[in-house]
Amino acid sequence: MKTSEIRSTFLDYFRAKGHTIVPSSSLVPSSDPTLLFTNSGMVQFKNVFLGSEKPGYVRAADVQRCLRAGGKHNDLDAVGYTARHHTFFEMLGNWSFGDYFKRDAIVFAWELLTGVFKLPADKLWVTVYQTDDEAFDIWNKEIGVPAERIVRIGDNKGAPYASDNFWQMADTGPCGPCTEIFFDHGENIAGGPPGSPDEDGDRYIEIWNLVFMQFDRAPDGTLSPLPAPCVDTGMGLERLAAVLQHVHSNYEIDLFANLIRAAGEFTGTADLANKSLRVIADHIRACSFLIVDGVLPSNEGRGYVLRRIIRRALRHGWMLGVRGDFFWKMVAPLVEEMGAAYPELATKQAFVEDALRTEEHRFGETLEHGMRVFDEVAQKSTGTIAGEDAFRLYDTYGFPVDLTADIARERGLDVDMDGFEQAMDAQRQRARAAGRFEAKGQMPAELASQLKPTVFLGYEALQSEGSKL
Ligand code: ATP
Ligand code: MG
Ligand code: MG
Ligand code: MG
Repeated sequence: MKTSEIRSTFLDYFRAKGHTIVPSSSLVPSSDPTLLFTNSGMVQFKNVFLGSEKPGYVRAADVQRCLRAGGKHNDLDAVGYTARHHTFFEMLGNWSFGDYFKRDAIVFAWELLTGVFKLPADKLWVTVYQTDDEAFDIWNKEIGVPAERIVRIGDNKGAPYASDNFWQMADTGPCGPCTEIFFDHGENIAGGPPGSPDEDGDRYIEIWNLVFMQFDRAPDGTLSPLPAPCVDTGMGLERLAAVLQHVHSNYEIDLFANLIRAAGEFTGTADLANKSLRVIADHIRACSFLIVDGVLPSNEGRGYVLRRIIRRALRHGWMLGVRGDFFWKMVAPLVEEMGAAYPELATKQAFVEDALRTEEHRFGETLEHGMRVFDEVAQKSTGTIAGEDAFRLYDTYGFPVDLTADIARERGLDVDMDGFEQAMDAQRQRARAAGRFEAKGQMPAELASQLKPTVFLGYEALQSEGSKL
């Protein structure tokens, strides 16, 4: 089944179950300045869950474009390394606002997966929150999933990709247990079942997460039942497509085939399984949709996330031997692939191409020289790139520090992030002394320090809300 048919089959199913189909909202959350990007389907419904907005329906479903490349959810460093993570992806979701609850949500999900999409039931595993006997019993007694394939999972704070089955919107407010559905891609692939120590392998891939908003958490931490519990679900379209198209990696689905072929052509790469082509195909989606949604490359905030993703893509092209433009040319095949589902992408094609081409030319002037500097620095390093070298790459050659860290990672090296920040601080002080706030038009040091490649704590402070789902 093609990705486009999966979208419509999902929506048709929930429409028939009385759900109002709503359009995807923008990647830039309109009503939530604390959130960097829309990272799940529930973002546009936040005020409905909080009770301050009444939508005029109690059941909804949609296909939401999502970005997880900054803030609380950041899968940027997983792209190219796992079979299942993108920066930009589409989330299929259904919601109940005080209407149906656990039983119907589970029955709908199961019926759609096994009855409509015909997934083999014996390949599906589920997780429930450790104390959620109600969900366990629905799966086990009503649906008939054997107890050996139902895993109880607790709160697993900290581990980036590990299961964590309790959802909360913020430190206080609506929260509740989750149940997740996993597909077993087979024993040839490394990785253990959910809840096991090696669950972050790619054998058992999480496809759908159902959240049961059941409690209201008070400032002292106590939970009281919500008067009208809600359901919030999210399923990765690309992950479901991989299962339905009998491939393991999201990057092997129909939607990616033409993008990867185009990336191969524009970079002169014959081996279409090359990891860099996957990264480029991922990044053109993220970058194009960000620009469609009004973000432009800049040195701060959302624009700096966009700039970082573009520069990562350009560096992959460079690694494949490209010494001119190529990335903006990927917009046309993307429009071919996704313009029907997202007409705004098609209408803004020329604008997106121009924005990317401009950024490509700007970075093109320093990329090659910067890569030579990186090579020299890497050669003299003993496992760690010095902070001041990372800073020089940033300041003189426009290498965001996460780009430097990404290149370093490929070569088995680290970057001294503390040293980088010290160099940033010193720069900031010099700039202040010189009566300027920003150095050489680069982004302010405070922001730079928030954009560390793996930690991204900076935005977390901003991002008290945001969903785990
Ligand atoms: P994982 O544990 O695999 O990182 P997750 O638990 O972070 O996934 P959720 O936040 O529960 O994911 O999002 C709901 C669904 O969206 C997931 O079950 C998955 O199908 C899909 N999804 C999440 N993150 C990504 C991503 N980076 N790329 C593609 N699909 C994703
Ligand atoms: Mg995740
Ligand atoms: Mg998960
Ligand atoms: Mg999940």
